[in-house]
Formats: sequence, structure tokens, C-alpha cells
Amino acid sequence: MNIPENFKFETQAVRTQTERTQFQEHSTPLFLTSSFVFDDSEEMAEVFADKLQKHSYSRYTNPNVSEFIEKMVKLECAEAGYAYASGMGAIFSTMMALLNSGNEIISCSSIYGATHVLFSATLPRWGITTKFFDIHYPETIEKLITPNTKILYAESPTNPACDLIDLRLLAEIAHRHNLIFIVDNCFATPYVQQPMLLGADISLHSATKLIDGQGRVLGGVAVGNQELMDKIYLFSRGVGATLSPFNAWILSKSLETLAIRVERASENALKLAEFLEKNKNVLSVKYPFLPSHPQYELAKKQMKTGGNMVAFEVKGGREAGKKFLNTLKMCSLTSNLGDTRTIIVHPASTTHSKLSAEALAEGFITEGMIRVSVGIEHISDIINDIEQALAAI
Ligand code: PLP
Repeated sequence: MNIPENFKFETQAVRTQTERTQFQEHSTPLFLTSSFVFDDSEEMAEVFADKLQKHSYSRYTNPNVSEFIEKMVKLECAEAGYAYASGMGAIFSTMMALLNSGNEIISCSSIYGATHVLFSATLPRWGITTKFFDIHYPETIEKLITPNTKILYAESPTNPACDLIDLRLLAEIAHRHNLIFIVDNCFATPYVQQPMLLGADISLHSATKLIDGQGRVLGGVAVGNQELMDKIYLFSRGVGATLSPFNAWILSKSLETLAIRVERASENALKLAEFLEKNKNVLSVKYPFLPSHPQYELAKKQMKTGGNMVAFEVKGGREAGKKFLNTLKMCSLTSNLGDTRTIIVHPASTTHSKLSAEALAEGFITEGMIRVSVGIEHISDIINDIEQALAAI
């Protein structure tokens, strides 16, 4: 079932299949089992001694989870990976696998709220600290590096402000100083951007988002080069934030439609961004493929489409933002993103509400900012709903 390496992204996503039983299923079956039987005690001992590669226990490996990882590794142009129960499971386990007490992370300040809390409040309990830099000034990174710095961490586009960072530039800085460069590629997906090809050492995802794409399951995944992933695998299989076989089965199927979902959602997002730019109740719009985006040239170089996320600022701040959300008729008010259904949130009071006023400002999250995860409904229905809600503020 191995397909040639030179097959294109869409074909790899559809055709990569590592498992079939004696029934020769066309679609991979669900291997809902916690453990696997050995032929004899010698085989069991060899597997336990890591001398023989065979499924033994689903916290280590499972056919559905391995297939999902294999697909992600191919789509991200990586060498190896490990899949987790959620995106945060992936980020936490990766950090804990690679860092020791006393080590430092350098991260862009505009990152997902829970990642910010992990870096600024949780990891310091184990003596791992983070210095944040402003995404617009990557030249400040080198001043923050000390002999204890081990990881450079970035999101691009950022959640929720849709700012970008030059991943190739960050990879160069990281490698000049012997740092591991990690990218949260959740907003882009490997269809839009492949950080490994831009020099990243690890690419992480909340698979809960565009990878599932239908708002059904939680999941996370980290892919990277073999050496780093071997270390991460050994740590992660021991701590147990593992992806379940059922969720892996769903996610593996979801990847088959990733390209067409992201393509359509990106087309819709660009049309929505163009509409918003002309609306009198909108102060500003941020979408990577809008020529008015301050990093438009970088977006065109680094991304295949502008992605499905749009950020905009309503006139009238927090109160107007609340009124806008309460007047929507179709778009969902829910904390997920990357669904087939358009989802709208007010980050300052929801996804990023645990951040201090200072951290909100550093992440460019204003009181009136609205984040739209554009879905694949017909664009006129999305625009009509947003237009009527804007008219009410
Ligand atoms: N990274 C980004 C950019 C996210 O938006 C999220 C969740 O919204 C996560 C990581 C965490 O993922 P999960 O909710 O699957 O733990």
C-alpha cells in the first residue's frame, strides 16, 4: 500500500494507507484495542526491549494512530511524528521531552492563549522560563538568547491577530545559535504552509482544528526530524497524552478532504475580507492575502492560500463587538476554529481572556477585535449574516 514519494499532496492525503486486515478493506478499519497479542514470550521480550518494531500497546503505537502520523509526516515533509489527545497535549509533551529545568524558550508574544499560559505560568513551576518577542521585530530575538536557551517557538499566522512571521528567517536565527525551531502550524495546515521546508525542526498542530475540520474530535500531532522525534516519542509514550485510535481513524479520514476544504474556506475568507474592508462599521481587517496586510509580500512567498482565518476590528470596541456577536443568525458562537461551519469569537473575552492587559496588547488583541474562522458554506450566506449583524452596531 506504499505509494510513490513523488505523488502530489492531494494524492498522498487520500492514498496513504498503512493498514488492511485479511479482509482487504478499501477503507482502513478501526483498531479499537488497547493491546496486541504476541506469538510467544521471546517475541514479547524483543518488543519490550525495543529490538522488534510491532504494535504492543496503544499508548505506544496503534495501527490507526500510526496511519494518521504517517499521513501527517508525508504532508508536512517530515521524517517522524507522534500524535496526542489534543493540541495542548502535543505542545506540552514536546516541551517537556526536549527541555530540562533551567532551560529557556524564546517565543513570539502572539500565540494561542493556552500556549501563552503554559509558557508564562505553568512551565516556570518546573524551572522552564520563556522570553517573548514582538512578532514585528524578529531582529530582537538574538538579544534574548542566553546559554540556557534551547527552543525558538512561533505561530504563523498568529492566533487571533492573523499576523505573520518569516519562518525561514527564524530558522536561520535558531540554527545559528543551535536552537530547536518549533512552529505551531495549526492556522495554516500543511496544505498552506510546510514549515519543515522553510527550516523548522518540528511542526505542531491542534488536529482539532482544520485537520478534523468538522468539529468532531480533539487531537494533536508533532512531526519533525527523526532524531528529535525519537526523543519526543520515548517521552510521550511514557506520559500518556496519546491520541485514541477512534480519533486517529476520524482524523486520518479527514485528511483525505483537507486540500479541498482548505481551498474553499480560503476562497471564502478572501471574499469575506474584501467585503469587510468596504464596510463602514469595520475599522480594519487582517487577512494574509489582502494586499493591505502589512506582510502581504511575505504571505505570498510563504503561504499557498491566505488560510481560513480573518481578524477584524469593529467600530465601537467591546460593546459593539458584543452586539455584533449577539445579532448573528447563522455563524456559530463557539470556541473551536477550522470547522466547515463559520465560527466567530471575540478573543479578548473568550479564547485569550486569561491573558493580562499587557499580554493582550503584546498579542495585538484589541477590545473590538473579532476573529472569524471561515467555513465552507456558500459565501453569500456568510456575508449576508455578517452584514446584517454589522448593520446592527
Ligand atoms: N494551537 C493553536 C494555534 C490553537 O488555536 C489551539 C486551540 O485553539 C491549540 C494550539 C490547542 O489545541 P487543542 O485545543 O486541540 O488542545
